[in-house]
Amino acid sequence: MGNGSNELAFTVGLAVIEEGTPVVLPRPMFSLYEMIVRLHGGRIHAVAPRPDLHFDVEGLLEAMRRHRPALVVLTTPNNPTGRAMAPEDVEAVVAAAPGLVLIDEAYVEFADGVGARPLLDRYPHVLLLRTFSKAFGLAGLRLGYLVGHPDVVRELYKARIPFMVDRLAETVALTLLRHLDLVQQRVAEIRAGVQWLYRELAALPDVAPVPSQANFVIFRTPLEPDVLLARLAKDGILIRNMSGYPELRGYVRVNAGRAEENRAFMVALKKALAGDETP
Ligand SMILES: *Cc1c(COP(=O)(O)O)cnc(C)c1O
Repeated sequence: MGNGSNELAFTVGLAVIEEGTPVVLPRPMFSLYEMIVRLHGGRIHAVAPRPDLHFDVEGLLEAMRRHRPALVVLTTPNNPTGRAMAPEDVEAVVAAAPGLVLIDEAYVEFADGVGARPLLDRYPHVLLLRTFSKAFGLAGLRLGYLVGHPDVVRELYKARIPFMVDRLAETVALTLLRHLDLVQQRVAEIRAGVQWLYRELAALPDVAPVPSQANFVIFRTPLEPDVLLARLAKDGILIRNMSGYPELRGYVRVNAGRAEENRAFMVALKKALAGDETP
C-alpha cells in the first residue's frame, strides 16, 4: 500500500532507475512517469502511438529489442486517451520484456474485463499498480496499491518510506471495501455516462470522440480548445484542454458526471459549436 499510487510509482523509480538506465514508455502517457525517469537520470525511449491513439505494440516490441529496458510502463486504460490495450497485447509486451513491466491500472474498474491481474500468476516481472483515487472516489485521501511477486516487492520495500499510509485512509478504504456494492453501482453509472457521452458526441457533425475505457472521453471539434473552453465556462461547464500533449493537440476532455450533468454539458456544447455566445 502507498500514499497514493503515484508515490508507489516513485518508489519503483527510486529502486530501479539510475544514471543511464533504459526505460521504454509508450506515448502519450501520464507525465509523472517521464518525470520520474528524468529525475533519476534514466534514458527514456518513447514509442509514438498509432493514428487511432492506441499504443503501438509492434513499436514497443521493437524498442524493447533494441534498448533492453530495465523498466517498461504501460497505462491501461490510458490517461490521457481513455484507450485500453487488448489483453493479448499486454501479454505480448510482458512476455518479451527483459526487465520489469509496471502496469498502471488506475482506471481498470471502469473498463471491460479484469485487467492484467491474471498475468501476475505467470510473470514474476509484472508489477500491477492500482488506486483508490478513481473508481473509489478517494483521490484526496491518498491510497494506492502495488501487487507483484513477493521477491520483487521485497526489494522495492528497501526503497519505500515506512509508515507511508495513514490510519484514516486505511479505515475509510476498508469501510468502502465492506460496501463494495455502492462503489460498483457508482462505477456502473459512470460507465453508462461515458457510453452516453461518446454516442452523443459521435452523433454531432465535425466532432470526433475517441472510444474510452476510462471515466472520461477526449474529442476534437472544429473550434480551438481555448475558444470552446471559454464558451462552455460561461455556461458553468468546465472541461480540460489536452493540447499540452503533442499527440493530442486540438483535443479536449470531458469527465462523465451524473446524468443531469452530462446532459447539461451536451446542451452547452451544442450551443458553443453553434457559435451562440452569451454577451
Ligand atoms: C489518476 C491516476 C493515478 C492515481 O494516482 P494516485 O496517486 O493513486 O492518486 C495513477 N496513474 C494514472 C495514469 C492516473 O491517471
